[in-house]
Formats: sequence, C-alpha cells, structure tokens
Amino acid sequence: MLSYQHIYHAGNLADVQKHALLAWMLEYLTQKDKPLSYIETHAGRGLYDLGSDEALKTGEAQAGIDLAEGWFPADHPYIQRLTECRAMFGPRAYPGSPMIAALGLRETDTIHLAELHPQENAALKANLGDFGANIQKRDGFEMALALTPPTPRRGLLLIDPSYEVKDDYLTIPKALSQIARKWNVGILALWYPILQSGAHGPMLTALAAQFPDALRHELRFPPVREGHKMIGTGMFIVNPPYGIETETKRLSACFPT
Ligand code: SAM
Repeated sequence: MLSYQHIYHAGNLADVQKHALLAWMLEYLTQKDKPLSYIETHAGRGLYDLGSDEALKTGEAQAGIDLAEGWFPADHPYIQRLTECRAMFGPRAYPGSPMIAALGLRETDTIHLAELHPQENAALKANLGDFGANIQKRDGFEMALALTPPTPRRGLLLIDPSYEVKDDYLTIPKALSQIARKWNVGILALWYPILQSGAHGPMLTALAAQFPDALRHELRFPPVREGHKMIGTGMFIVNPPYGIETETKRLSACFPT
C-alpha cells in the first residue's frame, strides 16, 4: 500500500532542482508553435500549501524554495509559474510538477497524468480539473508505455517516483529503455534521490550504460534533519534539450553543499 505524501516534502531542494529544470524545458519546448505532449507517471496532487501542518512539520520548504527563490531571476519560468500559482491560490501555495506543466503549456498541448494513491488522485483531479488534463488512477509506467509514442509526438515525460517501492531502483532502467524505444524523440526526465547508502548507484550505472548521451545533473545538500538519508538530488535526462547545460551549471553554482 502506498503511504508517501508529497505535502511533507513539497518545495524542498529536490523539488527546486526538478521543478526549475522542468519549467525551463517546457519553456524551451513552447518556443516553437507546434503542439506537444506532457506525460507524468507519478503526479502527486499538483498543488501544495506550504503553510499546512504537514509542510511546517518537516520544514523542508523553508530550507528549500523559501531560500532558493532569490537564486532565480524574476523572469525564470520556474519563478513565473510560482508567481502565477500564488496569484491564483494564495501566498503560500506551491505548484507541483503537474501544475507547473498546466500553467506553462498552451491549449493546443496535451497533458496526461498518472497518480495511483486514491487520496492524492482525488486531490489532483480537484486541483487540475479545470486545466483539461487527462488524469488516470493507474500505474504510471504502464500509462507511459500505453501512451507512447504520443500524439502530438513532440514532448516531455517526467518520471518522479517516491521510491517507496524499493524495486523501483531495479525496474526503472528497463521501463525507461522500453519507453525510449517507443518514443525516440521524447525528452525523458527521471528524478532520483542521492542517498547516503548509495542505493541509487546501481540504477544510475545501468541507466548510464543504456543512455550514454543522456544528461546527468546532481546537486548535494546537507541532510534536512539528523539521520535523514537523502543528501542530494538528481535528474537524468534522455534527449536533453539544447542549452540546458547552461541552466544546470547556473543551478549548481547556487546550491549549498
Ligand atoms: N511529481 C510530483 C511533483 O513534483 O509535484 C511529486 C510526486 S511524488 C514524489 C510521487 C507520487 O507517486 C506519490 O503521490 C505516489 O502516491 C505516486 N505513486 C507511487 N507509485 C506510483 C505508481 N506506480 N504509479 C503512479 N503513481 C505512483
């Protein structure tokens, strides 16, 4: 049974890296007039209240976006999505990745979201219902395999598991290579935690062997609490868009180590 709830972690430094790169890539893709597909396998609830008891309990947003907002220029697409989200939902609202996509994309674009947890799925439908997204209560990898290659064929897939199912580390390289075979022009972005235990290591070794031209961007940070196992955040991007290295270098220069 799934128990992970992203509200405890929304807006932390891992979200800052993932959401900044996601917003940047979607802006890059929307520079062309042609419509695109956005597919997300592990969507969460799409919208978070950083003033909620759950978010305040961990303090991760305070050590995350609350500090990091100043690292970005006001016209950065991540800050633009954050500002739009707060104008719509209040000053402590925080956009999850589906909301970043919904706010950044156009009416001609298509959004497919999978979220398996019943409560998170219901909240996602309530939060994203007005944006015309196709929301499924289904295993995200299964949905991505069924949809690819999508129509429109241009686009981006985000895989952002909670890794509470430890088999994810074993199954992701195979799932990503199946999806890449079916959708060889898609930008395929995978988020992963950097763990003190090194449990993410074999997955990265397998992915690097399968996708030698992929971009791997990692940032380290001090654990948010004593004993916290996550010491950094990573994005593995197959078919990375042109120019993203400049953005990853800019982000790396801002992060605390
Ligand atoms: N991507 C979101 C964001 O950045 O705003 C956060 C997603 S959270 C890290 C991972 C979510 O995946 C959780 O809400 C969990 O319920 C869901 N989940 C776990 N296993 C899943 C699966 N096999 N298919 C779809 N959703 C799953």
